[in-house]
Amino acid sequence: MSLSQLARSIRESATLKLNEKAALLRDKGEPVIHLGGGEPKSKAPLDAVISCTSLLNTGEIRYTAPDGIPALKKAIIHYTEEHYKKTVTARNVIVSGGAKQALMVLLLAILDPKEEVIFPAPYWVSYPEMVKLAGGVPVAVTPEDGTFFPSVQEIADVVSSYTKAIILNSPNNPSGVMYSKDFVQEMVEFCEKKSIYLIMDDIYNRLVFDGKSAPICYEFMKAPLEQSKLVVINGVSKMYAMTGFRIGWAIANKPLIEAMATIQSQQTSGSSSPSQWAAVGALNGVQSSIESLRVTLQNNRNVLVDRLKAFDGVQVHAPDGTFYCFPDFSAYMKDSQKLSDFLLEKVRVVTVPGKEFGFEGHLRLSYCGTIRDITEGMDRIKWALDPNSANELYLGDRKLVREWA
Ligand code: PMP
Repeated sequence: MSLSQLARSIRESATLKLNEKAALLRDKGEPVIHLGGGEPKSKAPLDAVISCTSLLNTGEIRYTAPDGIPALKKAIIHYTEEHYKKTVTARNVIVSGGAKQALMVLLLAILDPKEEVIFPAPYWVSYPEMVKLAGGVPVAVTPEDGTFFPSVQEIADVVSSYTKAIILNSPNNPSGVMYSKDFVQEMVEFCEKKSIYLIMDDIYNRLVFDGKSAPICYEFMKAPLEQSKLVVINGVSKMYAMTGFRIGWAIANKPLIEAMATIQSQQTSGSSSPSQWAAVGALNGVQSSIESLRVTLQNNRNVLVDRLKAFDGVQVHAPDGTFYCFPDFSAYMKDSQKLSDFLLEKVRVVTVPGKEFGFEGHLRLSYCGTIRDITEGMDRIKWALDPNSANELYLGDRKLVREWA
C-alpha cells in the first residue's frame, strides 16, 4: 500500500486507541476500569436534546452555512459576552466539528510550511499531530523546575523568526493545572508585542474547582479584536457533556474567521445541523448542569487526590480544574508506556502514559467516571505496585496473586 508521507508521519490518537483496547477487553467480559477517559459521563442537557429532536422531527435536515447557523452564532456571542465580558459579532465566530476542528482549520489558516507552534508540556496529545497536519513544526516547552507551570521566559527562549503561534490550554489536559492571571496577562502582552498568534484553548475553563475561576484573556488584550492575533477556542463537549455532538467554535478577527470558514467549507461544508441545534439548546437553556458536573468532578478529584497522597512514592499536584490528574509514578517505573501496559495487563485498569503528553514518568488518570471506578481503580493500581499490600486481590470473583516484585 502506498501512503502519503503525511499519513505516515501522523500518530494515531493514543487516547482513542486506548478506548478501543478497553472496549475490546470489555467485550470479552474483562472487568476493565477506565481511568483513561476524556469525557464526562453525565447526560447531555435536556434543552440540547429537545432542540436537536425538534429539528429531527421536521425531517428537513439540510446543509447549513459552513461557518455555523445564525442561531448558534448568536448563542456563542451571548456566551462570550457573559463569560468573557467581550462583545463580538457573528463575523468573529466560526462553528466547527468540535474544538478539534476549530483548532485544525485555524492552524491550516495561519501556518506556512515549517512555521512553528509552541505549547507547554505536558500538552494535549493532539497538538503536535495537528500542527504537523497543517504543515507546521510543533515545539514543546518543558518547564525546567519540574512543575507544570512554564515561565514566560522559557517560552520566550524558544520563540524564533519561524514562530507563528503559541497554544495555551488552561485548565490543562493532562495536568489539570490552571495558569495564573499574571502568566496569562504576560503571555497576551508578549504575543501582542511579538505579533504572534496566541491560541487560548479554553475547552475546560468552566470546570474549575475550589471557588477559583479561569483568567479571562481579553482583559489583557490592548489591541482591538480586529487587529488582534488572539484566538479563543471553546465548545460544548466538556462543559455540557456533549462530546458526541461534535460542536466547538473559535472567536477571532474577521479576516481570520473568513479564511477558516473558506477552508472548512471545502473540508466538511460545516457542522451537522442537528448538532448545531443541540448546541443552541444547551447554550440558551438551563445552565445548572455545568455546576452540577463541576461539583461532581471536584468531589471526584478530592477522592482521587486523597488516594494518591496516601500512595508512598507517588507525587501529585492537585488539579485546579478539568477531569484529569497527572501524578508522577516514576518511583515505580520510569517508562510510562510500560507502566500503563503493565496496569492494563495485570489489573485491567486503563491509564494514559505521560509520554503521550510529552512528560515521561507520569500517568494521566481521569476522574470523570464514578467514585467506584476511581476508588476501585486506585485500589487495583496500589495493589499492583505496592509490595506491602496483600498478596491477593479479587477482580469480581477472579483471584489474582501477585507474582511480580
Ligand atoms: N482541546 C483539549 C485540550 C481537549 O482535551 C479536547 C478534547 N479531548 C479538545 C480540545 C477537543 O474537544 P472537542 O473536539 O470534543 O470539542
